[in-house]
Amino acid sequence: MNNQHLDTVRQWYPNALTSIETIDRLLDTIEKYLGLKPEQLMHADSMCCDDVNAIQYPPRAYQMLGPFKMGGLNGYPFAGLTGMNAFAHHVPENGAVVVFYAPHIGITNQGVIGEISRIGQHVNSACCGAAKGALGKLLSGQIIEGNINSLDFQMNTIEQIFLHHKERILAAQNQIFEATQVMYEAIDDRIEVLVKQTHYPCKYVILVGAIFINGDKEMGSFCQYKKFDYINLESGERNSLMTEYYL
Ligand SMILES: [Zn+2]
Repeated sequence: MNNQHLDTVRQWYPNALTSIETIDRLLDTIEKYLGLKPEQLMHADSMCCDDVNAIQYPPRAYQMLGPFKMGGLNGYPFAGLTGMNAFAHHVPENGAVVVFYAPHIGITNQGVIGEISRIGQHVNSACCGAAKGALGKLLSGQIIEGNINSLDFQMNTIEQIFLHHKERILAAQNQIFEATQVMYEAIDDRIEVLVKQTHYPCKYVILVGAIFINGDKEMGSFCQYKKFDYINLESGERNSLMTEYYL
């Protein structure tokens, strides 16, 4: 059953795994190569506040401390420097900070991207709703340069990100797929800036960037990693564990 759904998801994301397998591999790789157990890890995530992400969150992630919630709509790290600093000071001294960040996107069991069937509903709904909303506004020319209003600050921020990549999104074969990639790059850029400006009183900072994929209610969730780096805070050295993750 799961394999069939994974095949559907892999039409879009060829290296995706179920999120259950993703978290198993993450924790096993960290333990094997860095010698740290889950209870030595302070976990922060920057994911969309959509309830489906809470419903489909992989349970084993709770073996780590946290999660501290960095994200707002579509996973942009709206908690900012204050958020990053807060959990940096909650980490076990001999442990590591694990920051998982990802925009999310729905894929139905028919392989339709950008929507899902939710529990108790017979019609599909948008996923990520914020990304689809911003994309709709981009297509109809409704996004005004510089328009960020405190009433809808997070949504307006996503609109501006899409506006700044308008040509690329409009030219794409699948616009919501491309907009999600644009969102990933914007989140990744911002996380890197926040990490550079934060002091962590522990051994490692581990950065995991991904696309989080929500399936229909019976499908569960999936994840395609795009970055799995660790920074040794003593030496400043940075390495990738992506090859080890896929072993
Ligand atoms: Zn969302």
